[in-house]
Amino acid sequence: MKLENVFSGLSAVMLVMIFTACGPQIKKGESIQAGKGLVQRYWNVNNAALRGDTVILGNSSDRIVSKFKVRDFMLSVNLFTTQGADGTLAFHTGTGEDGEDTGYSVMINNSDYRQGSPEKTGSLTRIRNNYVRTVHDDKWFNLRLEVRGNHICTYVNDKIISEYRQPNNPARVEGLEGMILSDGRLVLKKTSNAGQILIGDIRIESFDTSMNMEIDTTFISDSTGEMLTLLNQLGFPVIDYHGHLKGGLTVAEICSHGRAMGYNYGIAPNCGLNFPVTNDSSLLAYYVEMADEPVFKAMQCEGREWITLFSPEVIARYDYIFTDAMTWTDHKGRRMRLWIPEETFVDQEQQFMEMLVGKIEAELSQEPVDVYVNPTYLPEIIAGDYDRLWTPERMDRVIKVLVENDVALEINARFRIPSLAFVKRAKAAGVKFTLGTNNAGNTDLGRLEYSLQVIRKAGITAEDMFFPRPSGDKKVLIKGLPAKITG
Ligand SMILES: [Zn+2]
Repeated sequence: MKLENVFSGLSAVMLVMIFTACGPQIKKGESIQAGKGLVQRYWNVNNAALRGDTVILGNSSDRIVSKFKVRDFMLSVNLFTTQGADGTLAFHTGTGEDGEDTGYSVMINNSDYRQGSPEKTGSLTRIRNNYVRTVHDDKWFNLRLEVRGNHICTYVNDKIISEYRQPNNPARVEGLEGMILSDGRLVLKKTSNAGQILIGDIRIESFDTSMNMEIDTTFISDSTGEMLTLLNQLGFPVIDYHGHLKGGLTVAEICSHGRAMGYNYGIAPNCGLNFPVTNDSSLLAYYVEMADEPVFKAMQCEGREWITLFSPEVIARYDYIFTDAMTWTDHKGRRMRLWIPEETFVDQEQQFMEMLVGKIEAELSQEPVDVYVNPTYLPEIIAGDYDRLWTPERMDRVIKVLVENDVALEINARFRIPSLAFVKRAKAAGVKFTLGTNNAGNTDLGRLEYSLQVIRKAGITAEDMFFPRPSGDKKVLIKGLPAKITG
């Protein structure tokens, strides 16, 4: 077939395509502008509306389906969502006109947290879920999808969001057996009733089909790896909400680690007296620096003096805020930091425990925090007696204050706290949970091992997990800051 003849009239089209028995086949470097008549040449537009150069998906299940199939490709599409709009970009789909029983799917959803699907744009659904919102409604953005051999990558506005290397014989839970690479169609579909999805320019480039299969050298296929694979497939939100850029660790490195292992990150600066962030301007500067990054933006509130250093408006910019009970002043006026033996005083262990529980109650009932982290931490000198000192009565006092103040409980991977017994009691009382590492540098990110063991043993489900409050509904705006420091 003489390719030039087929497309002689399309000077705007960069490269060429050939026709097979199945319809048009995209070849290397094909560019398509939606609208201008071309969208209908390559896509079945079905009942979606066309307005100028833009396709509008208004009703649930409105879709466009490619007339061609692709195996290795790059798809770049400009999209615009309005409030309540959820959709999917499916690829390698089955053989029918809009068959979606096989292949993978990328989420399109820019709603605020706790609204719409918890999965946000760029999520490689059920394989490498993304829960971080990187774009907002009412704004054009670019979604890019690349499949090279067994390597799938999604990008939002050129930032990589999810990636996955399909292994040989990939494990799949029941119902997801068809989620494998093949040669298939692309389907852009709306899945919610509310809102609209607008589709602007679409560019597709088909790669050579002989692309190499990459061996995944980063993912570790041990019991933790299997658990992470399973949790992604079950739609359980695996998020390390307690990451720090310490020891020279960059946001690109921490995101790369998360993508490889199969979870998302929340990143926090340490904010408080004698910490890197001590006022509104440094708190705002950190937020601005992180704004476009595919991580949750968190604030770690340090010591008890933090409430005097920052204003509610700046605090409320952050997705969530958290604190621990490792810095406080005892009954003799000694400001203690429990992880530093020289600054910790345990005159009498029962008295110390009563003081500690009292401090936790005061903090979590008065400070407008979302998550209690490094929970139930004990100083080294008494840490060996954790199970004896954390009596059921003390556990229940902490659990009560968590429930009454809607504070989530971190299951901390680095310190391996709280105990399984504590988590089980908290779950029974209706407490929400987060997973967190609290890395001290650039070599101890781990893989949430302890946290994953505990959620399995305690039977924690996706419904038990915390998500950040939507903007405008932040605790610090509703509850305000305490009039004086809590201890
Ligand atoms: Zn921390």
